[in-house]
Amino acid sequence: MSVPLLDLSRQYAYLKDDMNKAVLNVLDHGWFILGPEVTELEKQIAKLSGTTHARGVASGTDALLLALFAAGVRAGDEVITTDFSFFATAGTISRLGATPVFVDIEKDSYNIDPNLIEDAITDKTKAIIPVHLFGQVADMDPILEIAKKHNLKVIEDAAQAIGAKYKGKPAGSMGDFGCFSFYPSKNLGAGGDGGIITTNTEENFDLLTILRNHGAKPKYYHKIIGFNSRLASIQAAILLVKMPYLQKWSEKRIEHAKIYDNAFADIDSIITPKVMDYSDFHIYNQYTIAVSNRAEVMTKLQEAKIGSDIYYPVPFHKQECFADLGYAPEDLPVTNNAAETVLSIPIYPEMSPDEQQIVIETITKAVS
Ligand SMILES: *Cc1c(COP(=O)(O)O)cnc(C)c1O
Repeated sequence: MSVPLLDLSRQYAYLKDDMNKAVLNVLDHGWFILGPEVTELEKQIAKLSGTTHARGVASGTDALLLALFAAGVRAGDEVITTDFSFFATAGTISRLGATPVFVDIEKDSYNIDPNLIEDAITDKTKAIIPVHLFGQVADMDPILEIAKKHNLKVIEDAAQAIGAKYKGKPAGSMGDFGCFSFYPSKNLGAGGDGGIITTNTEENFDLLTILRNHGAKPKYYHKIIGFNSRLASIQAAILLVKMPYLQKWSEKRIEHAKIYDNAFADIDSIITPKVMDYSDFHIYNQYTIAVSNRAEVMTKLQEAKIGSDIYYPVPFHKQECFADLGYAPEDLPVTNNAAETVLSIPIYPEMSPDEQQIVIETITKAVS
């Protein structure tokens, strides 16, 4: 038996008829970009995320890019973020000519450590991007408080956390903007690239509407220079088919997480992911353990045909493209330790009990 890290074909198997119909319907009506499916999806995501508005864009990366731009981030500004995330979080800051400022993480949540943020603020700081890594919301209350005190915008990178909750509040509802990705491996994945931005103000919403379409308002009249970042109707159509299942899928992931938690509870050499007390709903986009003999564990998993991956092997401050920012390799020690020990293992909703048992047995053997 092989257990892939993620198997989207199983989801497609039971959604096939509805997904095919939804896609064919778009081919029929021919409104391929920002069609009625996009508008409907925006409505549903805003509702799910507890915001008044949402705007579909071409990817999660673009969601960050447009949100940063809409937040007023320009060349020469600084944006504070975590040292431990997918590249897009930092890359989009640099892409706008601004400078990412990396802050270390909390050991237990792998999310940005709010206690270290104020020391990173300068008179150039414009915004903070907390990332809700692996599906658990970052500790937002202190972050929002710091942002308010220093007049900074907050952009939630909720790419991995759709439907997750913090003290009862949905991911993407607390900052000025919430950024989501529909990349196929996310909990709500499209049949290609896609993303969406949530916000609670009419002003931000209008700006995003203009920005995603070259800054035009009205058509062919450009007061600002925007982007070409529009969500395809086919992607929205696929996502609308999946929306009614999202909550159930998240619950299934949580069930799987509990089984792993219990199985590894007495094994000192495996650190299981912690659910923080402020986190009401961790949706486990990844189930990420930490082990000191990671290379060995990965080899054993590979031999057993079990998928695993490292999210993420290189902290931002050690990336070659950020060398000019002047961090030393030993800066940000908590992130460094995480990057050397984390390992994500299969957690997708359709994983069978037998498959999970094999993953558990293989890992248990590999660490003993
Ligand atoms: C996936 C992801 C993104 C980027 O989303 P894309 O849709 O792939 O562009 C940004 N941030 C984080 C944390 C992600 O996991």
